[in-house]
Parts: sequence; structure tokens; C-alpha cells
Amino acid sequence: MSLNAESTAFRSALEVIRAVEPRVADAIGAELADQRESLKLIASENYASPATLLAMGNWFSDKYAEGTVGRRFYAGCQNVDTVEALAAEHAKELFGAAHAYVQPHSGIDANLVAFWAILADRVESPALKKAQVRQVNDLTEADWFALRRELGNQRMLGMSLDAGGHLTHGFRPNISGKMFDQRSYGTDPATGLIDYDRVAEAAREFKPLILVAGYSAYPRKVNFRIMREIADSVGATFMVDMAHFAGLVAGKVFTGDFDPVPHAHIVTTTTHKSLRGPRGGMVLCGPELADQVDRGCPMVLGGPLPHVMAAKAVALAEARRPDFADYAQRIVDNAQALAEGLVRRGTKLVTGGTDNHLVLLDVSGYGLTGRQAEQALLDSGIVTNRNAVPQDPNGAWYTSGIRIGTPALTTRGLGVAEMDATAELIHTVLTQTTPGESKAKYVLDPALADKISKQATELLTGFPLYPAVNLA
Ligand code: PLP
Repeated sequence: MSLNAESTAFRSALEVIRAVEPRVADAIGAELADQRESLKLIASENYASPATLLAMGNWFSDKYAEGTVGRRFYAGCQNVDTVEALAAEHAKELFGAAHAYVQPHSGIDANLVAFWAILADRVESPALKKAQVRQVNDLTEADWFALRRELGNQRMLGMSLDAGGHLTHGFRPNISGKMFDQRSYGTDPATGLIDYDRVAEAAREFKPLILVAGYSAYPRKVNFRIMREIADSVGATFMVDMAHFAGLVAGKVFTGDFDPVPHAHIVTTTTHKSLRGPRGGMVLCGPELADQVDRGCPMVLGGPLPHVMAAKAVALAEARRPDFADYAQRIVDNAQALAEGLVRRGTKLVTGGTDNHLVLLDVSGYGLTGRQAEQALLDSGIVTNRNAVPQDPNGAWYTSGIRIGTPALTTRGLGVAEMDATAELIHTVLTQTTPGESKAKYVLDPALADKISKQATELLTGFPLYPAVNLA
């Protein structure tokens, strides 16, 4: 491949778009410029490779392909079959799974596919059958209640939101909170860690149909062998949502008890976080659940996105290369260096550190809410997101926490030394910010914010983003 093939590809694409709607071409160019300049510490974001990005921008987007490989409801799907089969094959090899379903459009969709597959597998119910042919949106609260009763009030036990669990693990604002009678397990208030004895106790009392492990904001490993034992002891199906740490599983940083695939009945993931693929989801399972999982479309998904499945195949092929394992290890090394740099400067961290890709700061020690800290950091060119900490007195909107993660900066090539410099920038901003008259308001000298912003950009200069892409 010639060195400027990537530049030519993206430049040509923008030229074609510009001829129709120049403002879209400008926005795409501006997005690259913004991403190049900011210190991206959002734990759930990354930078997909040019090959992955380009695999999405083509005529596969035009194709309907409901069904599965070789068994479609539309004619002319032979090329979609090729990319879907490739993506599934790469996923199975990469994760050592018996079955991979690569159609989910997002992580939420992957979880919905898994929930319905588990329900359909475990529960033979006329009410469920009725629900399957109706629009889920048409079901009233009373319908849900009746359906749950008929299904035996199906229960889900997942990690609580404020301990780092995800909305889709049974919480009210999400459909999972309506489909299931939900209870959650938290973390030990003293250590911030999952207390497996307490999880076992909750499982014994609650007798869930599904035990869910997985998180969006828990900075530690989870022992999936123990969680499976707990699930087995109460006859629950054990599901792991590895959306956040799939890259660490793929890169063999999480192995043995910490690799969910050999332990869970079913594993869901996104493909765009630490796994560094296109935006999307995926479900892995054994042969027992495979048929139900493959009914994801049309049960809960619309037509598959063949262009995204093509990009999943490319990204998964990349993740199977030896250098991905090195990347995954560097993600964790960087997160640990960042955590150590912050602790050394006096920042309070949930659990005191990390053994994955993310660090959760408790910014109450700086006298700030998460909302104030997030905005002050953003003013200073540091992109993070606010997040509740366990037992958060400021709730899920204002929060007392800031979640940061290293997958994106590690992709750019930043290493341990730059993580210490990053910790210094974060600490300086948080020390110099004072709370305003509301939980959202704050005071930060604009000159200081500007200075930190420049330092953040300088930190990135040796690590160009998409170095082979020149749009000028
Ligand atoms: N599961 C977990 C653990 C997540 O952190 C997220 C996203 O933040 C999701 C599922 C949902 O993914 P998506 O935004 O692709 O629907």
C-alpha cells in the first residue's frame, strides 16, 4: 500500500461529499481536527483504524439482509454472507467462543438479544409468544406486569449503577428494568471491591433467572469463575457484558478466571471501545443458546448493517494480530501509571487504583461535583466524563466522580511518561477550580484553562492521530 493511500482515500471521500453538502464535509474534517487536538480520556472511546473506517463507507450500506448467513429473507445477499461469516469466524477464533452473532447494532442491542434468547430458551410462555409478535413499545406498564407474572416474575441480578454497572443490566429507564424484576449487588463500602459472598447471598435470596456481570465504571477485574459458581448454585443463567474490557480479553490481558468466555453461558460486547472496532455489538455463546441468539433479527433488531459487519470483520482481523496483545497490555500499563500519578498527587480514587483500562476519580476531595470537574477539564482540553461513585451523595446527574480511560491515548502511542504528565494536568485543573453557586457552576481562570489546553496539545504532538491521513 502506498504511504499516501489513506490520505487519498479520505480526501477523495470528502471531495465527493463536498460536492453535495459541503457543510457535512466540513464537519467531518473539523471532527478529525478536534480529535487530533484534545486529550481524549473517555474510557469508552477509541480510534478505529483507517481500514475499519473505510470498510463502513460503501454500498454494503444499501443492502437489506434479514436472516442469517445462507438463510436470508432477501435475495442477493452472497457478499453480505461473506463479510458476516468472516466477522463471526474472526470473533470465534479471537475469543475462543463456539458461536458468534455479529449483527447487533450496538451494545444495548446485543444485551437485548441476549435477554430474549435466555428468556425464550428458559421460559415456554404464551404471554412471551404474544409479546414477540407485538411491538414492544405498545406494551403498557400493566402488560409488562402481567407478562412478568406469567413468566414467573423473571428476575435479574446485576451490578448496581452507582457501583459501576450499566443501565441495561435491569435499571428502570432501560427496557431491561421493565422486562425484569431487578435487584443489584454493590461493592464493599470500605474497599470499593465486589464482595462475592454478598453476591452469593443476594443470589440465594433473590433466585434470579439471569446473573449479570460486567460494568461501565468498575476499575478492577471480576472473577468470572466465582460468579459462574454463584449462578450455578441458584440455577441462574450467567451473562457477562464485556463491552468495556473486550479489548483486554482479546489481547489476553484478562485470562483464566478473568476471561468471561469460558465461564459465562452468554457474553455480550460492544465492538467500539477497547476492542477498537466500528460502533456496534456482538453476542458470543455456546451451542445451546446459538439458535435463540441468531433470532436477534427480527426479534429485537432491524435489518443488519452489512457495512458495519464488514468493518467488524476488519477490526477483528486486526485484533487477532500479535501487536494487539501488546496494545492491550499497554492500555493497562497506562491506566495504572495514570492512577499512580494521581494518587501520588493526592487524588482519591475509587478502589485506590485500577487493574483494567479505567480509573474512577472521587473529586469530592477537590470540593467539586463531577459536573463541575468535567466542565473545568473540558475547558482545559481534557475530555472526560462525569460518573457516579459508590453511594454517591450527588446522584447520577451531578455525581462526585470523573471516569477516565486509556484505550484512545494508547492507540495514539502515548506511554507511561505521558500518563504522569496527564495526571499533573488533571490535578492542576482540579486544584485550581473552585465550586460556584450551584452544583453545575465553577470558577476557573480562563488563562489557566488556556495554558493547560496548550500543554495538553503539546503532550500530543509526538503522537499524531491518523498520521498517514493528510486532508490539506
Ligand atoms: N454495556 C456496557 C457495559 C456499556 O458500558 C455500554 C455503553 O456504554 C453498553 C452496554 C451500551 O453500548 P451502546 O452504547 O453501543 O449501546
